[in-house]
Amino acid sequence: MSAASSHRRVAVIGYPVAHSRSPLIHNYWLKLYGIPGSYDRIEVAPAELAAFIGNFADQGLVGCNVTVPHKEQVARLVRIVDSETARLGSVNTLWMEQGELVATSTDGYGFLQNLRSAAPDFALERQTAMILGAGGAARPVIAALRSAGVEHIHLANRTAARATTLAAEFGEGIHPIGWDAIPALLETTGLLVNATSLGMEGGGPLFIDLSPLPSDAIVADVVYVPLETELLLQARARGLRCVDGLGMLLHQAVPGFERWFGRRPEVTPELRALLVRDLTR
Ligand code: NDP
Repeated sequence: MSAASSHRRVAVIGYPVAHSRSPLIHNYWLKLYGIPGSYDRIEVAPAELAAFIGNFADQGLVGCNVTVPHKEQVARLVRIVDSETARLGSVNTLWMEQGELVATSTDGYGFLQNLRSAAPDFALERQTAMILGAGGAARPVIAALRSAGVEHIHLANRTAARATTLAAEFGEGIHPIGWDAIPALLETTGLLVNATSLGMEGGGPLFIDLSPLPSDAIVADVVYVPLETELLLQARARGLRCVDGLGMLLHQAVPGFERWFGRRPEVTPELRALLVRDLTR
């Protein structure tokens, strides 16, 4: 095979897509491992999505990532390879398999790997967690925590009905709670996760008094712009362990890179530093 023909082209699709840091991650790995390939951003408007997916192979792509607002729509257009992702109804990683475009979601994996690498001694089994948010990011986080053995998850969302519906979808062990019930339940929460867009640049502030949390609790945020959210700053000030959203972003990229380019990449301090520099530019 010639060098040119072994060049594998991958992209992230979204609308807009200019904000995506995925090219930074994958092109870093391509260079590091000396793999011939490229990873670009492709802006795909919602009206063009079905045609883009339908003609995927003709565009010389071997796979892609999917970001907002297309994760759910793409899930309806391709075959999902695993039942857990099929239940989520949201995908972020696509690849060609024997001429067919197939998909999975690696967001839950990314969340869990990040948590495990940031706090390797934290036993998730039989923990009680609290998740704030019931949108696109909350779903894979719930699924991942369930699969890791978390026994009880309290789910709070501004729009209470959305939390109730989501909890019912997941079934036993997921308890929808009102936003006003958060303070009283923090005392028994081992893991608090912000999966809302609150705390994000332009997303509005997230005000929660963390003082009732146990001293060995972990506070995780899926938001990574800014890297240090107010929630994490408050948790650090209390001496609690913190897990940021950048780690989730880095870890969710691992399975896709391995599929497309045949090498399992590593999430290293150097890669993280590269992203931190970009995020704090
Ligand atoms: P969605 O739009 O799907 O959900 C947004 C969530 O935030 C909903 O629960 C919504 O509540 C809540 N929310 C929004 N505004 C407010 C407000 N003013 N007050 C209270 N709650 C509010 O977004 P996503 O779930 O896709 O994304 C959420 C965050 O997660 C973003 O910052 C995104 O960048 C980040 N993310 C990070 C990833 C990573 O790899 N680290 C991966 C995916 C997402 P309601 O239902 O009431 O509207």
